[in-house]
Amino acid sequence: MQEFRNLQAIVTDIEGTTSSISFVHDVLFPYAADKLPEFVREHCDRPDVKEVLAEVARESGLPESDRDGQITQLLQWIRDDKKVTPLKALQGFIWEAGYRSGDYRAYVYSDVAPQLQAWKNAGLGLYVYSSGSVLAQKLFFEFSEAGNLLPLFEGHFDTTIGGKRECESYRRISEEIGVAAGQLLFLSDVVAELAAAREAGFQTCLLLRPGNAAAGEHDFPVSRSFADIRCLS
Ligand SMILES: [Mg+2]
Repeated sequence: MQEFRNLQAIVTDIEGTTSSISFVHDVLFPYAADKLPEFVREHCDRPDVKEVLAEVARESGLPESDRDGQITQLLQWIRDDKKVTPLKALQGFIWEAGYRSGDYRAYVYSDVAPQLQAWKNAGLGLYVYSSGSVLAQKLFFEFSEAGNLLPLFEGHFDTTIGGKRECESYRRISEEIGVAAGQLLFLSDVVAELAAAREAGFQTCLLLRPGNAAAGEHDFPVSRSFADIRCLS
């Protein structure tokens, strides 16, 4: 059991912390790749989709009318694992459609929902900080296997506030939440993220989940389950 004192709020990572890394890699990414051609053809006149496709055309030098060319380009970016902004935006739209149509639900470890609820009941604020966009985070928790967990959270942060391995990001998060860093606990599976949070003054705990990469050498408190993390205000 890990015990943390003098806390007002908890900030949690998603992948490798509340959820398996494999859900994102084995379910979400293949789903987006599989559905992409059909989604683009069906929704290319939707204003937000149209705007993203115009960006694809600009970045790849294709005419805006060449939908097949844009689809080929998007699939190539996926194969090359390119983090291109319009591709990420389209993946977000496709995942949203998939969640809403019930094609999958977001996997969360079984200890997560009851413990989040218990922390909230104890008066702690709950926040998410993940490299997935705020929209993706909200969909993830709204359509989870444990039900709609979205109302448990008071706020979401993504990399628009800064990188997860940068101390400054955690200073900004503490400021935005309005709670001193020392009264915030950051939960993550990545030592470099915890180091940045600790440098900003956060309390920290490393999650060891099945399927996570080895953490390497470190001196952070560790836990295999949210149920083994005791948070006192
Ligand atoms: Mg993670």
